[in-house]
Amino acid sequence: MTAPPSSPAFSARPRLTIDLNAVAANWRFYAERLAPAGAEASAVVKADGYGLGAVAVARRLQRAGCRVFWVANAEEGAALRPALGPGPRIFVLGGPTPEELGLFAPFGLSPVLNARWQVEAWAGARPEGDDRGAALHVDTGLNRLGLTAGEVEGLLAEPALLARCGVDHVMSHLACSAEPDHPMNAAQRGRFEALWAKLAPRLAGRPAGAFGLTRSLAASAGALLGPAYAYDIARIGVGLYGGAPLNTGGPDLAVSIRLEAPILQVRPLAPGDHVGYGATYEAKSPRLAGVVAAGYADGFLRAGSGRGYGVLAGRRAPILGRISMDLITLDVTEAGDAARVGALVELLGPAAGLEEPSRLAGSFAYEVLTRLGPRCVRRVIGELA
Ligand SMILES: *Cc1c(COP(=O)(O)O)cnc(C)c1O
Repeated sequence: MTAPPSSPAFSARPRLTIDLNAVAANWRFYAERLAPAGAEASAVVKADGYGLGAVAVARRLQRAGCRVFWVANAEEGAALRPALGPGPRIFVLGGPTPEELGLFAPFGLSPVLNARWQVEAWAGARPEGDDRGAALHVDTGLNRLGLTAGEVEGLLAEPALLARCGVDHVMSHLACSAEPDHPMNAAQRGRFEALWAKLAPRLAGRPAGAFGLTRSLAASAGALLGPAYAYDIARIGVGLYGGAPLNTGGPDLAVSIRLEAPILQVRPLAPGDHVGYGATYEAKSPRLAGVVAAGYADGFLRAGSGRGYGVLAGRRAPILGRISMDLITLDVTEAGDAARVGALVELLGPAAGLEEPSRLAGSFAYEVLTRLGPRCVRRVIGELA
């Protein structure tokens, strides 16, 4: 039971498996969901592809048919362009900043113009004859990035300025799309339509560039709100990686990562024994504890202490006491013979899930994915050669 492994050598590092076949399957789910509305699924690969690796994710999705990608800043776009070749569109969500302006032309990046100052900066910097286009981001209620309705009016009064920007995409972003019945959804959609009605006549006559004049409003959740929210393009992020887009449940997307850690020690606990820093767990009955080699330094959030679980041999193994930097102690009593040194416990993945462990740590899939740490041994499945 507590014997050292007679089995092959194992490393004390956690393993992170990234399944690009799952990412591609999730992209196809969205592409098929959007197609009847005449919309296409684009891929949001900011923050290094939500932590999975933007280049590998984007190359795989390009092969699957994805033509439009979104990153947070120009450096992320510059890192992506050589991997994708000249064809796909890469939008930079943060827009052109003075320091990054020089990256847009050489790397063929399309800016998202989020504020009046970015409109002016881009109008001044855009190369003559540039046909990569730009997105105009209008705010419809999120009050994060995007021009206000008043700023859009101001821009309409300056047709020359607008023309110099080469805008061929108009976008906005929903605040409450994870809740399909939230009144903000329809309210934002209504404002988007009203702004579009004013902008479209000013944009339609422009040299359309290679991509035509398009709109986007939905992200992973909005794309599930029905055809009225699909527009031409949906910007799919967390759903690609298997995070649940809606608070109301469904659809069943494929979890694209698996975080596993080996058991370093198995120890019996007697009633009254405590576990971990602060001695926050006390055994009430004889238990078997498995100590695994992963901790908050690997991105497994400490807030899941005493609440989360791992999965060993198909059984849930509750976290006992506090998660520490490099170690987590689990109750592996139910796992029987599988509870042995060297055995791998799944902490996130197809068996443990992604949403539930994230929620038990007071967070959500977005944060957990983007925090998974560099100490993990990474293995990628389904990567293009
Ligand atoms: C991050 C982001 C997305 C993707 O959102 P998900 O909920 O992950 O699908 C889409 N649009 C904008 C503007 C974003 O910032």
